[in-house]
Amino acid sequence: MWIVIHMDKVNMKLNAIHYKTGEAISIQVEHGRIEAIESIHEDELEGASLPFAAPGLVDLQINGYAGYDFNQLPIPDDTVSRIIRELWQEGVTSSYPTVITNSSEAIHDAMVTISRTCDQDPTAAKGIAGIHLEGPFISPHDGARGAHRRDFVQPPDWEQFSRWQEAAGGRIAIVTLSPEWPDSIDFIAKCVRSGVTVSIGHTSATAEQIAQAVAAGARMSTHFGNGSHLMLPRHPNYLWEQLAQDDLWTCLIADGFHLPDQVLKVVLKVKGSKAMLVSDAVSLSGLAPGDYTTHVGGKVILTPEGKLHLAENDKILAGSAQMLLWGIEQLTSRGLASLPDAWDMSSIRPASFMQLPSASGLAVGAPADFVLFHTEGHSIKLKNTYQAGELVYQS
Ligand SMILES: [Zn+2]
Repeated sequence: MWIVIHMDKVNMKLNAIHYKTGEAISIQVEHGRIEAIESIHEDELEGASLPFAAPGLVDLQINGYAGYDFNQLPIPDDTVSRIIRELWQEGVTSSYPTVITNSSEAIHDAMVTISRTCDQDPTAAKGIAGIHLEGPFISPHDGARGAHRRDFVQPPDWEQFSRWQEAAGGRIAIVTLSPEWPDSIDFIAKCVRSGVTVSIGHTSATAEQIAQAVAAGARMSTHFGNGSHLMLPRHPNYLWEQLAQDDLWTCLIADGFHLPDQVLKVVLKVKGSKAMLVSDAVSLSGLAPGDYTTHVGGKVILTPEGKLHLAENDKILAGSAQMLLWGIEQLTSRGLASLPDAWDMSSIRPASFMQLPSASGLAVGAPADFVLFHTEGHSIKLKNTYQAGELVYQS
């Protein structure tokens, strides 16, 4: 039982427990922004059990959800709008639709479709903070390439990228590439000058090439430890170098299957406040366990435990089927992070890394993108999601 006074559609006042401080607060929202946050005295609550309030989740890498896919081309007209709305039930208020390695025409078409949705659907536009282009400028080598199609992998090409960026209406905000290509340093510098964040991923680069990429302005590691070779020289190698580069922020898939706990533990310690969670979820996320056929992985199985693997080999993952809330639960239940820390890794950290207005979190003047939830043990029970002050999801 808690108190929400809806003054009108976007102006309201509600009471909750601050997810970080544990303090009872009253949040006042006006015109899509947090107008005021005030402490409440316990005797004013009259025994009400308040939900926690926390910033909306920000996913830097998501391929699809609930059967809808940013990479099954051509993307049907309503797909982007549907995914953004479906993500509200997962507490996600900002995301970066991720388009992976494909033919030049297919990437172009995906950019046009996402961009058109943003132009025509203001609600979806609010939820799309930018587009993440993962590839095609990645490693052609097995293991490092992951599930990306080899025939479409290519060296960095600024002219080509500029055409995609134009098709996207300038919305490509993140590019994942491998600095093993000779031209990558020049390409990274051009991205940085044009305000595009460069992330290192799906790479076979040497430690030296990683260091050069960072010197040129690369600032992020894409799903660190995944999209990697099964065997590596013990040192130096591209994993150690990315860990050691203090300027690199690190994205992690904490679904319980992609990275073992000891890797998560070490990366979280080394990267500290530069560690972030991503879902990297594929379109089967949000669906019931069962057998499925995908355009990338062929026949796959989503187990009741939440693991997505190839039907023919349960040791080969077919992407992640889990969202950020699940990742937060994984980190807390395994004792790898506190709930406020894990929440920040999935909300204000990616927001501040990408310099989004929501970076200040639950603060006066910030966009009213936040959620209310209860906890049962380590399980998070999402109650409400607000985007720009509007109630967009209620359990
Ligand atoms: Zn990837």
